[in-house]
Amino acid sequence: MSVASQIACVRRSLPERVTLVAVSKTHPAELIREAYEAGHRIFGESRPQELREKYEALPKDIEWHMIGHLQTNKVKYIAPFVRLIHSVDSARLAEAIQKEAAKCGRTIDILLEIHVAEEETKTGWNIGELMDYVRTAPFVRMPDLCVRGVMGIATNTDDEAVIRRDFGELRRCFELLRPYFGARFDTLSMGMSHDYPLAVECGATMVRVGSLIFGERDYSEK
Ligand SMILES: *Cc1c(COP(=O)(O)O)cnc(C)c1O
Repeated sequence: MSVASQIACVRRSLPERVTLVAVSKTHPAELIREAYEAGHRIFGESRPQELREKYEALPKDIEWHMIGHLQTNKVKYIAPFVRLIHSVDSARLAEAIQKEAAKCGRTIDILLEIHVAEEETKTGWNIGELMDYVRTAPFVRMPDLCVRGVMGIATNTDDEAVIRRDFGELRRCFELLRPYFGARFDTLSMGMSHDYPLAVECGATMVRVGSLIFGERDYSEK
């Protein structure tokens, strides 16, 4: 199956209101170009340097999303052009993004990543800590950040009930946080290749689909 037909297939399975982020991490720029030529414009990457290189190599009307764990010292690689950072999981990172956004003279849209999965290794805020932080109105001091919503990853399991529980929890966090932000807090990013239909049922407004579009990733060369 070609990238173009896979994208069309995923697109058709989504309601109009859901934004598709095509996750192109580890795949070469030529494959991204195939998706671009099929009309797709929104791509997600998980490594800042790789994202920067692809930004430089590809058409400038692509919307680049950073979806992977981001270290504060790497924000500078992507700050001038990134459209949305999904993986803001600490106060330190938010502050680092604010600093780089101010340097670039632009506003950067972000999502707050929340930990809901059973695996300890998955990153993200604990909702209690995040609520305590948000109640101190920290984003008033970060005028160049726009908090657009919430991102999360469900437990990696075949048990649909567990996945639904995780997505339901993300939805609940999204609703809890919404009153603290303005009308632009409208994005609930959840769902990947194996679980995005469930995420959509549970209220996702944005899904991040990689291997289903581009094929399996090969990390051995990286
Ligand atoms: C890699 C990745 C995806 C896409 O995963 P697939 O299973 O290939 O669809 C989605 N979200 C995040 C945060 C990722 O790191």
